[in-house]
Amino acid sequence: MSNLAKYAANPNKSRGRTHLEENSSYRTEFQRDRDRIIHSTAFRRLVYKTQVFVNHEGDLYRTRLTHSLEVAQIARTVARAMNLNEDLVEAISLAHDLGHTPFGHAGQDALNNCMKKYGGFEHNLQSLRVVDKLENRYPNFTGLNLTFETREGILKHCSTTNARKLGDIGERFLTRNQPSLEAQIANIADQIAYNNHDIDDGLRSGLITVEDLSEVGVFSDQIKKTKVKYPSLSKHQCAHGVVRKMIDELVTDLIETSTANIKKHQPNNISDVRNCEVALICSSENFLNLQRELKVFLRENLYRHPKVKKMTCQAHEIISVLFNHFLDDYNKMPREHALRAIYADKNYGLIGSARIIADYIAGMTDRFALQSHTNLTQ
Ligand code: MG
Repeated sequence: MSNLAKYAANPNKSRGRTHLEENSSYRTEFQRDRDRIIHSTAFRRLVYKTQVFVNHEGDLYRTRLTHSLEVAQIARTVARAMNLNEDLVEAISLAHDLGHTPFGHAGQDALNNCMKKYGGFEHNLQSLRVVDKLENRYPNFTGLNLTFETREGILKHCSTTNARKLGDIGERFLTRNQPSLEAQIANIADQIAYNNHDIDDGLRSGLITVEDLSEVGVFSDQIKKTKVKYPSLSKHQCAHGVVRKMIDELVTDLIETSTANIKKHQPNNISDVRNCEVALICSSENFLNLQRELKVFLRENLYRHPKVKKMTCQAHEIISVLFNHFLDDYNKMPREHALRAIYADKNYGLIGSARIIADYIAGMTDRFALQSHTNLTQ
């Protein structure tokens, strides 16, 4: 850590935890955050939550857990190359999806829909809620009592209405300041990871083909180059080679562009980073276009594929049936959740109990949500 840049997040200068705790003698504060996240219940559940494909469709697809590990791995590479705090990017990366619902994006849209009258549902805000309130394993506080810097990184987006309710952690969305460089890295590593592994999973599922990919500018060059270099490569190997190369180029560009940005803006400390009018961690214009092209390709060829759409409809159906059943009768939830909902209803009305129901549903794995749906409807 002696080579930590002066503008990196330094655990010795952390803005601290909500509840005061004694320092650990052999771990930094950000390492402790990472360890708490790994030991949390929400983290273990990520293994049975999906991104695009439903968990029971096959054992080879990404889950939220493998996705989070891939994000952490990309983010650590970038942080290390730039002398930024590797422990912090790892903690943020591993926690960034803790608030995700079952059934990937479809589940999150469905739950947001159910919660429309009760304050909505944002998965990012939910990740923060998980580490701040829902994990229950310490005697003196609820949540994991993480440092400000890890919590700041977890909350990537937030509506201004919600930001106003969050105190210091929501402030930057109102004042339009930047988070730490480590938070910025975890955010972009997330995008690099999911765009590329959705391509990989899409190919594996057969919903997109190498031929589809070769019609996209960014891939056609790579595919041609790979085929020239290794003419006897199978389609499968070629696709893997292309995705691997793509991640490598995106990461290299991110490091080079961000390093040049830092040189230009000359931040002296983390406050300068936060007060900078632009995010210093970013890709070059060329690579931003490339990522846009990738996103459009995925939207048109994978996310809107009839098979994926069918799954999306099922997810909407399952989540809304669960939500309505529980809102109708809190006792259809396990006792612990029912009691919380009854208490919230008494004190805050439906807005309170609906949030408890959303917490319960968001915490479900894909298979548990499917099973709960079967139990309630049979
Ligand atoms: Mg993610």
